[in-house]
Amino acid sequence: MKKFFKKAVIGLGTCALLAGAYAALASAPGHDNGHIVTATPNSTMKMVIQGNDAFKHTYNREHFEPFQDGQVPNLTVITCADSRVHTQLFDFQADNNIFIIRNVGNQIQNSEGSVDYGVRHLPTKVLLVLGHSSCGAVKAAMGDYSGETPGIKEELDTLQPSMAMDDGSGPFNHRWAQNVERNVDAQVAYGLELYKDKVAAGELAVVGAVYDFNNLWGKDFGSLIVVNINGETDVNKMMGHPVLNELSKAEIVTHVGSRAK
Ligand SMILES: [Zn+2]
Repeated sequence: MKKFFKKAVIGLGTCALLAGAYAALASAPGHDNGHIVTATPNSTMKMVIQGNDAFKHTYNREHFEPFQDGQVPNLTVITCADSRVHTQLFDFQADNNIFIIRNVGNQIQNSEGSVDYGVRHLPTKVLLVLGHSSCGAVKAAMGDYSGETPGIKEELDTLQPSMAMDDGSGPFNHRWAQNVERNVDAQVAYGLELYKDKVAAGELAVVGAVYDFNNLWGKDFGSLIVVNINGETDVNKMMGHPVLNELSKAEIVTHVGSRAK
């Protein structure tokens, strides 16, 4: 509790500092609300270096000292490479706390060694599979991607089997969101098979969630929505799941849901 409070205070302080840093960055030439609108390789590298300057001046030496000799993260995340999905959505202080692996479509199979490292060697307590609204990889896997590069086709081939719900009926956006969730379910099932010993021993929870910046799940824009806990996808059963027993009722109601079931 004490640790959490300290973390929350640091988080709030960091927020204010970051807001100032980003405001300065946003006012620089070539930026529109912090986003480069006329990107070239040169302007992009300027963004990288100036962004790092803003970052390193936000934190003092003490911030880095606790983890210079090793990491002790609590969470392994496999999420999409999509630029709209970042750790700030669930932890402002992700340093030394989140072991994160990213690829298109948040697929364990394509990064199994990295996920193994987080779950078995660190070892983290939760494996979070994080999909998101408007996932381009899921959309691509729902259609004809035969003209893509060999590398992209390989990534989409492993995603495609979980697109079974795309029967062509109903609004496309609804089917798209359902398939985002189905992919999360498929990845959780894959993770449960890999780590069944740790889940059975109560040392690990495999949780599936969706980051919803379109409010398609109806829990507000920017919500993280839990859609699968250790293979359980029934909303009422998830709400009563022991893994969530340190959350308040209000927190559970606003962060557990489903569109696919
Ligand atoms: Zn995506």
